[in-house]
Amino acid sequence: MESHKFYVLPELRFGYSALEPFLSEELMRLHHDKHHAAYVKGANAVLEKMDASKAGNMDFDAKALFKELSFHIGGQKLHSLFWENLAPAGNGGGGKPDGGIAAAIDEEFGSFERFKKIFSQTANSVEGSGWAALAFCFETQRPIIMQIEKHNTNVYPECMILLVLDVWEHAYYLDYKNDRTKFVEAFWNIVNWSEVNKRFGEV
Ligand code: MN
Repeated sequence: MESHKFYVLPELRFGYSALEPFLSEELMRLHHDKHHAAYVKGANAVLEKMDASKAGNMDFDAKALFKELSFHIGGQKLHSLFWENLAPAGNGGGGKPDGGIAAAIDEEFGSFERFKKIFSQTANSVEGSGWAALAFCFETQRPIIMQIEKHNTNVYPECMILLVLDVWEHAYYLDYKNDRTKFVEAFWNIVNWSEVNKRFGEV
């Protein structure tokens, strides 16, 4: 396996305009090339600082440094997954889940429609910046919903995240202004369920 040693900004699997009309090209460029890139840069800056200080004394504030690292790694991991969770509407995106994930959602939440309602409410009610996530808990063998604050608060350890929705203002403000609810409704048109199901198959 190739070893990167540092975090890398992944390329999108689709063009910047491929998610229109739900997400504009301009928004996607800003979100991926500026916002996501900044988390990659931020995480790597911490690693570089660790590398540089290795030979000397501990010339950093561990509390501040690792709080910062947690934030940036959360940003890198969640955004990388978010892009994988998306696909152009009608071309891999939207519709209903299929396969194992569909059955797991039905069993846990009663129906796909009910899951959508719960997940949307989770996303819409994030205070400030954060994410809604569908994860799988290995201990209970059940899907579970996380309401993540910022990029790293309320993330459950040892659960595999399957689907995420970014509800930071930078994720929608350019296209939807302050109407997060409308953005969350639009999201369902571009969810790549086969990718979510593929991740579910790996648990
Ligand atoms: Mn974002």
